[in-house]
Amino acid sequence: MSNGILVFCEFEAGRPRKTAFELLQRAVALGAGPVSALVVGDGDTSALGPNGAGKVYQVSAPALASYSTGAYTKAFAAALAASGASTLLASASSVARDVLPRLAARLGAGLAVECTELRNVGGKVVGRRPVYAGKALVDVTINSPVGIFTLRPNSYPVVAAAGGSATVVPVDAQVSDSDVDVRVTDTVAASSTTADLTEAERIVSGGRSLKGKEQFDAVVRPLAAALGATVGASRAAVDAGYAGHGEQVGQTGKVVNPSLYIALGISGAIQHLAGMRTSRVIVAVNKDAEAPIFQYATYGIVGDLFEVAPLLQAELSRS
Ligand SMILES: Cc1cc2nc3c(=O)[nH]c(=O)nc-3n(C[C@H](O)[C@H](O)[C@H](O)COP(=O)(O)OP(=O)(O)OC[C@H]3O[C@@H](n4cnc5c(N)ncnc54)[C@H](O)[C@@H]3O)c2cc1C
Repeated sequence: MSNGILVFCEFEAGRPRKTAFELLQRAVALGAGPVSALVVGDGDTSALGPNGAGKVYQVSAPALASYSTGAYTKAFAAALAASGASTLLASASSVARDVLPRLAARLGAGLAVECTELRNVGGKVVGRRPVYAGKALVDVTINSPVGIFTLRPNSYPVVAAAGGSATVVPVDAQVSDSDVDVRVTDTVAASSTTADLTEAERIVSGGRSLKGKEQFDAVVRPLAAALGATVGASRAAVDAGYAGHGEQVGQTGKVVNPSLYIALGISGAIQHLAGMRTSRVIVAVNKDAEAPIFQYATYGIVGDLFEVAPLLQAELSRS
C-alpha cells in the first residue's frame, strides 16, 4: 500500500451528506498524501472534487442498493485496494459503526473510532478520541499498513468548496446477492424536518423534569424550533415516554457533537454526558445549583425550566 487517504462519503437522497465534505476537507488539510473518495452505490458525485477528492472510487451493483454488512465490507475492501490508500476515514455513523470493525478484522487493520480530532504527526494520521465516557482523551497512532479512523460529525467546520474536479473510477467489487446478509424490506422516513441528531449543529434536550409528554412538546420542541435545532432527550425522559427512542442522547442513545447543546432539566449523569460532552457550547438550565451538568456547562442558568425556556424562546422570536 502506498500513501494517501480514502474518505468514505455517505449519501442521502442521491447527494453527499455534509459529513462527506467535512471529512474530505479535513483529509486535504492533513496533507498526508492524495485524497480520494469512496462512494458505495449510485449518486451525484460532482460535489466531491471541489471539496478535495482527486479521484472518486465508486462501487455500484444491484446488491448494494440498500445497506448490508457483508456486501458493504466487500465494496470497501475492493475500493481500498483499488485506491492504494493507507488511511481510510469515515464519519462515526451507524453504517461505519457496523461495517468498519468487520473490514478492520478482514484486513488486519487498526481502527480508531469516534475521533474528535485528526492530526498529521510526522506524516502519520493521529486520531484523538474520548475514552471512559469522555473523562479522558487519548491519541491513537495506527501501526498496521492500513489505518481506519472514524470522526464524530461536526468536529470540523465545513467551509466553501475550494474548487477542482475528480475523476470517477468505477470499482467492480464482485458483489452479488450472496453477499447480502441482511435484507431491507422497508424504509420509513423520519417525520422531523430538522437535521439528524448525530449531525445537528444545535440541539435542545429535555429531561425527566418535564414531567410529561405534553409539557415536553409544549416547552422543548418550540424552543428547538425557534432555534432551528434538533430535539434530544435524556434516557429518563425517553423511558417515561416524553420523547422517542431516536431522540435519546447518551451512552445507550446517540452521540452528538453540536456547536450548541441546551440541556433543560437534565442532571448530567455520566451516561448522558458520554453522548454530549464534546459539544462546543453547553447551556444548562437546572433548578439545582449543585447538579453535575453545571460542571460541564459553558453557561449555566439556575432556575425553573418552565420559566426560563419560554423567556429564551420569546427572546429568540424577537431577534
Ligand atoms: C447502562 C446505563 C445506560 C444509560 N444510558 C443513558 C443514556 O444513553 N442517556 C441518558 O440520558 N441516560 C442514560 N442512563 C441513565 C442515567 O444514569 C440517568 O438516570 C439519566 O440520564 C437521568 O435523566 P435526567 O437527567 O433527565 O433525570 P434526573 O437525573 O432525574 O435529573 C432531573 C434534573 O432536573 C432538575 N429539575 C427538576 N425540575 C426542574 C425544573 N422545573 N427546572 C429545572 N430543572 C429541574 C433536577 O434538579 C435534576 O437535576 C443510563 C443508565 C445506565 C445504567
